[in-house]
Amino acid sequence: MIIVLKPDAPVEAAAEVIDLLDTAEVESHLVVDQGREVVIAPGAPSELVAMVAGHGSVERVVKTGGPAMLVSSAYSPMRTVIDVSGVSVGGDTFVVIAGPCAVEGRDQILEVAHAVKRHGARMLRGDAFKPRTSPYSFQGLGESALKLLADAREETGLPFVAEVLDTRDVELVAGYADMIRVGTRNMSNYPLLRELGRQPKPVLLKRGRTATLDEWLSAAEYVYGSGNPNVVLVERGIRTFEPSTRNTLDISAIPSVKRKTHLPVLVDPSHAAGDSGLVPALARAALAAGADGLIVDVHPDPSTALVDGDQALEPSQFGDLMSQLRSIAAALGLSL
Ligand code: PEP
Ligand code: MN
Repeated sequence: MIIVLKPDAPVEAAAEVIDLLDTAEVESHLVVDQGREVVIAPGAPSELVAMVAGHGSVERVVKTGGPAMLVSSAYSPMRTVIDVSGVSVGGDTFVVIAGPCAVEGRDQILEVAHAVKRHGARMLRGDAFKPRTSPYSFQGLGESALKLLADAREETGLPFVAEVLDTRDVELVAGYADMIRVGTRNMSNYPLLRELGRQPKPVLLKRGRTATLDEWLSAAEYVYGSGNPNVVLVERGIRTFEPSTRNTLDISAIPSVKRKTHLPVLVDPSHAAGDSGLVPALARAALAAGADGLIVDVHPDPSTALVDGDQALEPSQFGDLMSQLRSIAAALGLSL
């Protein structure tokens, strides 16, 4: 149950509602959503709705099942559109974010930023901190990469998203990036999610590689409930028994999770496939299945990439993909 207080509720109202729930032995949590006090009572039985709704400072009571509360469609039936430095994510435009897995140097990031901009990408991706399976693999250039991304933004006008791995780096990454990404390995890093909830930059939250939809939405709830409602989900493939692709893109997750949540949902066909030859088909499928956009790996010369070269499109291949997506988007009444 979610209890939304009236905007002009007196200061004591939340405590009174919590007392009512306490008396019924129901645990509750007070959160503030965009300036409005909201009491979350996950285990409240529906018989309590009338009692709580009768309190004079309660605007509405939302009955919810499942772990998603503030991120649930029940709480907010309208789809959320998130503003990322002037780019709308989740509206009538299918948003394409593109760029290399990692920033490798000045020429590389500037060249690819100009190329993806020319082909219609709305945002740039590129990481400064890489979560590598081996501690001996390239780990990213750190702050100097963030500076290069900021230069690329300056030259192209494209906002950028970069990954943060560690709570200690949130302030640093937020100081440069327009949007902060949580990778699949950190989807369940609850202290990191809370920290991202306490800062204002929008968050791109990848699905954990073994996470169910409800676990993924609970991770989003950590960010949202800590004070940051600007969360975008990314389906990036899950681990299955099938070894022929890096991960298995869960296409059914797109309409399923969109039924459960009001947050925008993007797809990463690159990390799902692990193979650039498969990326266009998965990207087209994601658009057709109702995703709000893509995050795609593009590298000026994939054969020399320090990270994830096998799955990166060359700029011209990215241009071809964008033309295909434009036709599908037009048929769906979306722009690109
Ligand atoms: C990435 O986008 O470069 C990345 C590491 O993705 P994921 O966390 O989905 O593996
Ligand atoms: Mn990568």
